[in-house]
Amino acid sequence: MLDTIKKPLILRVAVPSPLRHTFDYLLPKDYNPTNIMPGIRVLVPFGKREIIGVVLEIVTESKSEPAKLKAALTVLDNEPLLPKSILDLISWTSKYYHHPIGDVISNALPNLLREATRKKKIEDENNEYKLSKEFQAKPKTIQLNEHQKQAIDAVKKHLNEFKAFLLDGITSSGKTEVYLRVIAEIIAAHKQALVLVPEINLTPQTIARFAECFAVPIAVFHSRLTPKERLHSWLMAKNGVASIVIGTRSAIFTPLKNPGIIIIDEEHDLSFKQQSGLRYSARNLAIIRGKLENIPVILGSATPCLESIYNVKRKRYIELTLPERAGGLAIHPSFHLVDMRNQKLKHGIAENLLHPIKKHLANQGQVLIFINRRGFAPILICHHCGWVAGCKHCDARLTIHQKKRQLRCHHCDMFEKIPPKCPKCSDENLLSLGSGTERVEATLQELLPEAKLIRIDRDTTRRKNSLETMLKNIHNKEYQILVGTQMLAKGHHFPDVTMVAVLNVDQGLFSADFRSSEHLAQLVMQVAGRAGRAEKPGEVYLQTHNPQHPLLLNLINGGYTSFVNNCLEERQAAQLPPYSYLALLHAESKEQAAALKFLAQIRTGAEKSLTNIIKLFGPIPAVMERKAGHFRAQLLLQSQNRETLQQALDILLKTIDELKPKHSLRWFLDVDPVELY
Ligand code: ADP
Ligand code: ZN
Ligand code: ZN
Repeated sequence: MLDTIKKPLILRVAVPSPLRHTFDYLLPKDYNPTNIMPGIRVLVPFGKREIIGVVLEIVTESKSEPAKLKAALTVLDNEPLLPKSILDLISWTSKYYHHPIGDVISNALPNLLREATRKKKIEDENNEYKLSKEFQAKPKTIQLNEHQKQAIDAVKKHLNEFKAFLLDGITSSGKTEVYLRVIAEIIAAHKQALVLVPEINLTPQTIARFAECFAVPIAVFHSRLTPKERLHSWLMAKNGVASIVIGTRSAIFTPLKNPGIIIIDEEHDLSFKQQSGLRYSARNLAIIRGKLENIPVILGSATPCLESIYNVKRKRYIELTLPERAGGLAIHPSFHLVDMRNQKLKHGIAENLLHPIKKHLANQGQVLIFINRRGFAPILICHHCGWVAGCKHCDARLTIHQKKRQLRCHHCDMFEKIPPKCPKCSDENLLSLGSGTERVEATLQELLPEAKLIRIDRDTTRRKNSLETMLKNIHNKEYQILVGTQMLAKGHHFPDVTMVAVLNVDQGLFSADFRSSEHLAQLVMQVAGRAGRAEKPGEVYLQTHNPQHPLLLNLINGGYTSFVNNCLEERQAAQLPPYSYLALLHAESKEQAAALKFLAQIRTGAEKSLTNIIKLFGPIPAVMERKAGHFRAQLLLQSQNRETLQQALDILLKTIDELKPKHSLRWFLDVDPVELY
């Protein structure tokens, strides 16, 4: 009979396109249909171009008329390039973040595998990665302490199933040692470990520490890899050659032949959330992937994020704690508030902060001064008429960079020469207000002429290896005072630093972002963790105009846990995350008010279809309304229920589709945003 004639197979293909759906193609005429499988790449005609897509499904019915379907040009792989678990992870990501699946795949595949010019099959290259000789492992004979043993035993019980662990251990409590011992078990079982770290922590020392312990190939992923190096690492992971895969955020999509465990170190770090394009959280995806692969996941931090702590309270994660610095003799740093009120200030440094600095220097200690702002000063003002140097493209002031004689915008790429006189009234008396790292360095040098200072921020570490060299010189005690930004707060341990000072704590206390107090607490604890060793305990000084502030008192007297409990109560009262879920629709346009108008239309259009469980806020202008020439606005959605929020986002996207916004209007959706825009 006619209808039993075999229907042709149709390939459902994800292509790199901003469209939110897949495209159907027929198989090339001469291709043996039994060989096709999901996860295989195909070269397909797309408009006037030929592009590479990935087969997601093989079906027999298409929404398009069969006669209109085009055939794929070439099948590029003999076997799936992406295994089922990664295809599932990609689909999940696309649905959850409401992001075009083709673009999710672009995030997951190395460039060289996505370029249409590269029609060559890749199998022949796979053989390169045979291990030449046995990376000689010398397992150090560290005697684990009881807390470490308990943590390792707890994970060992669940090596063959999904389980999420929060390894909550203060800085230098031996978290890495726990990872290493667990990884040893994974390797012994011929499985692979995927380790994610913040970009700033992925130093040669980190990799060396893993390489030192295990004589196995390690695949490394970071943003400075060449396309070829990236492909090599990727294939080593996919083919099971690398037993350990270490990378930053995007490594979460790396296929593993024999997945064994996922570890996220410094899980609270904001770098795990991508802030452009596909706005995914690698921490969340790690949990999803753990479930899909049925393997354990360890999230480790000295200052876990509130979401993770809440998940422990809800019994979703198992908590493992390392409360003491490893190796006995543990002494926690002591905290002190420096009351700046009515103090003589020298460019943001209180006179009463100088005494402890001098004391520590006299005792041969190093001093770390943290300030969250680079450049010389954040404001250039005319003393005569009050003119302030602002950015032409942003609602922002220009930062003075004295050494370069430049004014720079820290929000777009704009920079210009420092003007010799006021552009408005021509007066020559221009003042610099406030302080950044450059000025703090200069001021301290003036106040302490004998001391040797080094400044570490994005400006002083631009050149390759400059940070490495600086860190080496700090360890060699060539410097006594270290002035720096975030870069000093993370990742590195300075055993000879006995004093840490945080200059502008108040900034974190009075920000518009509800997460700012959480981030301040994390920062303070992380900076504090840089200092001291057993025989040289550290002291931490926090400069503030608000020495009675309950948050500060709670943090320094009760520690991070006590602070978090307090903070969670506040979040619960306000029904903010983790007690609710947020999503943000952001829009921007060069035309003033266009973004606000667009969002208002979306809100009106979508509102009638939304349940009242969804709360809508806005549209309101962004905190910085104009940035890089665009006027920005946002609409915030809040719900107690993730499902309801997801449905609301579908409705929102449908409304946007129907409205067909002009090309000049840019918009994006951010699910679980971590920062305000
Ligand atoms: P974290 O990752 O929590 O910052 P690490 O694992 O890097 O801590 O440990 C800090 C230091 O203490 C390292 O030099 C490590 O070798 C050492 N260490 C870890 N565990 C022990 C232990 N049980 N006994 C002695 N030293 C230890
Ligand atoms: Zn003037
Ligand atoms: Zn700007």
